[in-house]
Amino acid sequence: MSPGQVTAVRVGAAVAVFAAMALWEWLAPRRALTTGRRRRWPGNLGIWAIDSVVVRLLGPATVVGVALAAAEHGWGLFHLLGLPYWAALVLGVIALDVTIYGQHVVFHHVPWLWRLHRMHHADLDIDVTTGARFHPLEILLSLAIKMAAVAALGVPAEAVVIFEVLLNATSMFNHSNVRLPPRLDRIARWIVVTPQMHQVHHSIERVETDSNFGFNLPWWDRLFGTYRAKPAAGEQGMTIGLPVFRDVAELAIVRLLTQPFRKAL
Ligand SMILES: [Zn+2]
Ligand SMILES: [Zn+2]
Repeated sequence: MSPGQVTAVRVGAAVAVFAAMALWEWLAPRRALTTGRRRRWPGNLGIWAIDSVVVRLLGPATVVGVALAAAEHGWGLFHLLGLPYWAALVLGVIALDVTIYGQHVVFHHVPWLWRLHRMHHADLDIDVTTGARFHPLEILLSLAIKMAAVAALGVPAEAVVIFEVLLNATSMFNHSNVRLPPRLDRIARWIVVTPQMHQVHHSIERVETDSNFGFNLPWWDRLFGTYRAKPAAGEQGMTIGLPVFRDVAELAIVRLLTQPFRKAL
């Protein structure tokens, strides 16, 4: 795949999933929005645009670039073990997913990293746009962590592209304000993180915020004991967001960008 084709696949998939989820949550919302789109979407979509530009400017120096270099020089565990291509592909996607799960846990527990990540949690509602609301500095750190994992393991470039497209799509899906029927939700939770499962992670209650860290595969939360089936106050009754940054003025893009550097009031 040429870099142009990779970008086309990424952008095409992101726009398609965004449009599908936005339509679904508009037609059949799970919860009534407390703040509404008009106040939240300009900031959230602005952050998405900034993040996209930041990643684009880095160009070949990104995760795919490291994967191509690893393949050329034979870096990483998968090459040392002489794994067949298909095994490296599947294990590469799974390994990147557990890496991101681990990164997410660390971002919740190290104070200065939490300052970067809490901007994601300060959204007063969750919907498809929350799935793209990550501080640019968190995106950069995440890129560095993924690069290190790809170099250490020798993850193939195709696995990186599959993972990035999947992560983007599942992040928009599991932040969407949509509702899977309870029976389907229960089954789907063994395969993918569902919207009802990730909603718990956006609870104002800290013990609930510190649960359901997965974005893609739901297994890590169950394996590492961070799984929580539902919020104590119920799907409709729980409050979304943090005890801090609850003023609607905090939804403006400049306020979002400066949140990590401000005392939480
Ligand atoms: Zn989080
Ligand atoms: Zn989230």
